[in-house]
Amino acid sequence: MRCKRCGRDANVHIRAHNIALCAEDFLSFLERRVSETTRKYGLISKGQRALVCVSGGKDSLSLWYILNNIGIEADGFHIHLGIGAYSDKSLSKVEQMAERLARKVHVTFLQKTLGQGIAELAKRLKRQTCSLCGTLKRYLMNRVAIEKDYDVLVLGHNLDDEASALLGNILYWRKEYLWRKHISLEGIEGHLAKKVKPLFLISEREMASYAFLRGIDYVTDECPYAAGAKTLLYKELLNRVEEESPGTKIRFVMGYLAQAGRDGEKRERQFCKLCGYPSYAERCVVCRILERFGTGRPVAFEVYPRTG
Ligand code: SF4
Ligand code: ZN
Repeated sequence: MRCKRCGRDANVHIRAHNIALCAEDFLSFLERRVSETTRKYGLISKGQRALVCVSGGKDSLSLWYILNNIGIEADGFHIHLGIGAYSDKSLSKVEQMAERLARKVHVTFLQKTLGQGIAELAKRLKRQTCSLCGTLKRYLMNRVAIEKDYDVLVLGHNLDDEASALLGNILYWRKEYLWRKHISLEGIEGHLAKKVKPLFLISEREMASYAFLRGIDYVTDECPYAAGAKTLLYKELLNRVEEESPGTKIRFVMGYLAQAGRDGEKRERQFCKLCGYPSYAERCVVCRILERFGTGRPVAFEVYPRTG
């Protein structure tokens, strides 16, 4: 197969777009799409301070690289979840990318603030590990963005993540969660940071090809708690549909974007009396957890790479 742009041997075939490209043209094709999505949906404006949430996986590390490569200067934020070697390895990949980009990354360690890793904490609180992890991540992302004065939080969710989450919410008609899936969620000054997802329209396969061809070194192991997650089943189902009719996933999420209003912006919000972040009760879940398990140290965001 030949590259549609330059006629050389093609390395990547993107069925959803019915296009084959060589490595070089594929990299610029993908970066251009991220750049166009960012502009079209008003994700990050010129001069805004952006903070990418990086897990150490291919999507978030590639996104961090792409943004800096297309002229959006972005720092990183990483949470060390205290999941043994998996967390240490993730941090080292993140730090490596920070050095490659010459950008800083803020890192917070659950064990330092709460005295234990995510799994032990979940056990003690009798909660599901992933659900607790999601709650803590949302809180810490918001907190670092507000405390460190960033204008926008950037998440590395790709097309497959979004399509499967959307399918899950539709299957059970969880309407209250549907609005939260938007490509861009506005913030509320001092309470909630704006959140955007520039990879919303880019598939997992495309991201894997990008990371490989760009030589991005990422954690290949799955988090040990990911196995059995419902989203993996939805991804599998959607992949089967995609195999039969290429382009289904992208049409699915584009249809959602065209129809979804941003009612999240209009929803009445209640804020935690202690931290000021959105909460359903007087004190948010995380403030209650901090009160019960906190080591007494403040929630700290350490800056990497370390200098001297
Ligand atoms: Fe957290 Fe679960 Fe994801 Fe692991 S799989 S990082 S525990 S949400
Ligand atoms: Zn709170």
